[in-house]
Amino acid sequence: MERVYNFNAGPAVLPEEVLLEAQADLFNYKGMGLSVMEMSHRSKEFQAIIDDAYARVKRIYGLGDDYEVLFLQGGASLQFLMVPLNFAVEGKEANYINTGQWSKKAIAEAKKIGKAVHIAASSEDRNFAYIPRSWQLSDNPSYLHITTNNTIFGTEWKFDPDIPEDIPLIADMSSNFMSKPIDIQKYSLVYAGAQKNVGPAGTVVVIIKKSLLEKAIPGLPTMLDYNIHAKNGSLYNTPACFIIYMVGLVLKWIENFGGLKKIAENNKLKAGYIYDTIDESNGFYRGTVDKEDRSLMNITFRLPSEELEELFVSEAKKNGMIGLKGHRDVGGCRASCYNSLPLKAAKTLSEFMKEFQRQHG
Ligand SMILES: *Cc1c(COP(=O)(O)O)cnc(C)c1O
Repeated sequence: MERVYNFNAGPAVLPEEVLLEAQADLFNYKGMGLSVMEMSHRSKEFQAIIDDAYARVKRIYGLGDDYEVLFLQGGASLQFLMVPLNFAVEGKEANYINTGQWSKKAIAEAKKIGKAVHIAASSEDRNFAYIPRSWQLSDNPSYLHITTNNTIFGTEWKFDPDIPEDIPLIADMSSNFMSKPIDIQKYSLVYAGAQKNVGPAGTVVVIIKKSLLEKAIPGLPTMLDYNIHAKNGSLYNTPACFIIYMVGLVLKWIENFGGLKKIAENNKLKAGYIYDTIDESNGFYRGTVDKEDRSLMNITFRLPSEELEELFVSEAKKNGMIGLKGHRDVGGCRASCYNSLPLKAAKTLSEFMKEFQRQHG
């Protein structure tokens, strides 16, 4: 059976090479007589797997010894809590820029545990159709938190916010993690749920500056304390062993692809096919966000009516393209074009869009 073109927002498409390699390893990993799923997380074989994944994250982003990499559980959603719990220190304000649903959830968690929160900027006035170009930090910020790609609304930060160096910049990069080169030195903490760009659901990659770790609030509950996870190399408790192995395979795929520069070129090409089709459709397809802030990962658009949108999604499915329905909170259509989506998939979708317009425009 042929595989479909998968435009799901997450869990999302994985590289075919990775799936085939995992399949070959599944029953008997490297002649050990068992699968990675059955291995002790304390074995030297698993240690080699997680060490390899750490090393790849560091190589891909060019990280030095001043950063720790962690593979945690609880998803990006638990990071919404862990960040303020560890770093929103007494007497300072946790600063956030609100660019959509996920930012709001991050803000809500900080408030739930009674932290002082300051909204430095928000794009809610135009239903999150843009990325703010200016912000007003509070007098004494503990950190600034941003969401670098807004999976639901389809906007993406194309620049790193310039803030004073002594204020830690923290980013939820779940949906554009490893999709392009970034100036990682500007960030003190980055987190990303694996299921968008680097693996199956089940682990969140956290990249954290050691100098920030030193400033964490002490005495936190064990599983919510970054320092405990760092000291134990993400092995305080049983980690998501098989998922981390899968992430390692995806990271290897990224490196073999040529790294972030090549990945970014490919992502631009893919998004270009679809955005060009939208822009050349004389308004049949309508992009929902400001052009300069369009996400290369999650392409959101509307058709002239909800009936046509429904038909579009179902006809696309009949043509082997799935996952094109917009998020339930915003409606419309959304094509997620993560790293592993083949170029051919984006091209096929753009051709389908043109044909659909010819028939229904
Ligand atoms: C998907 C997503 C999340 C939530 O991730 P979970 O792993 O489900 O907790 C958070 N932030 C962004 C930007 C996302 O795209």
